Amino acid sequence: MSQQPVIAFIGAGNMARAIIGGLLENGFAAANIWAAEPDASRLQDLAEQGLKTTCDNNEAVAAADMVILAVKPQIMQAVASELADAAQKHQPLFVSIAAGISLDALDRWLGGNAAVVRCMPNTPSLVQTGASGLFANARVSEQQRNLATQAMEAVGIALWVQNEAELDVVTAISGSGPAYYFLMMEAMTAAGAKLGLSEETARGLTLQTALGAARMASSSDVDAAELRRRVTSPKGTTEQAILTFQAEGLEAIVEKAMVACRDRAEAMA
Ligand code: NAD
Repeated sequence: MSQQPVIAFIGAGNMARAIIGGLLENGFAAANIWAAEPDASRLQDLAEQGLKTTCDNNEAVAAADMVILAVKPQIMQAVASELADAAQKHQPLFVSIAAGISLDALDRWLGGNAAVVRCMPNTPSLVQTGASGLFANARVSEQQRNLATQAMEAVGIALWVQNEAELDVVTAISGSGPAYYFLMMEAMTAAGAKLGLSEETARGLTLQTALGAARMASSSDVDAAELRRRVTSPKGTTEQAILTFQAEGLEAIVEKAMVACRDRAEAMA
């Protein structure tokens, strides 16, 4: 890749490391990536991989075209405020992956007139199968949007939403969604064991089935409803399970759960 942008990570924790790993795998040069952290021990292995590392957040921002704010939400105000001078002087793109922090707040803490993208990633980003929703403020250029897309696509898919409030819906579907599937896996494993399988066999079959269904659904050109119909023969075994889920109101439960999640995200913002 020629003329690579310089990307700086503020905070070198789990999420930053996942994105850095994805960028390196996608051909970004380590020398064009900065990692800034107060905990020097977390920077050592990144430096060994050829990244530029520093305990001074401002040094990284001064060098960067794009700054990924990858610190916990509770300290975002303090971290962003300390970057305000560098933000005003160098005007990089800022991408925040912190839950529940609005673009307005980020812009204000960064001293105003900042180009800011707010991104809601999810935990499977840690295994390069993430799903991120993004929204940009009006100062973000097309080129900067592409750069943010590229960074988040390094760990999965990255989709732009139409307005900032939709990020709370992203939270309800992909942000919190992995836990919904984990719950389903727990329930299937427990039921399989109750029906007589060993715990190990029930878990193995459950996980592989989840993986297989996800792979089939994402590689197929028909939607999940059609895939379900195709494996549900009239009067067959699957039909009995599906009819039970429907009679017990699974769809309404899922919707109710997602509304509760969206409402909580709204209240926390
Ligand atoms: P983490 O705790 O692993 O990483 C945060 C890092 O920030 C730590 O290494 C910490 O030492 C560093 N840090 C602390 N103070 C700092 C400062 N003043 N300047 C620079 N760095 C500082 O957390 P994480 O799981 O990587 O999460 C990072 C952000 O991503 C959070 O805002 C979180 O809400 C968001 N997020 C994470 C996930 C996930 O799957 N882990 C999913 C969605 C969103």
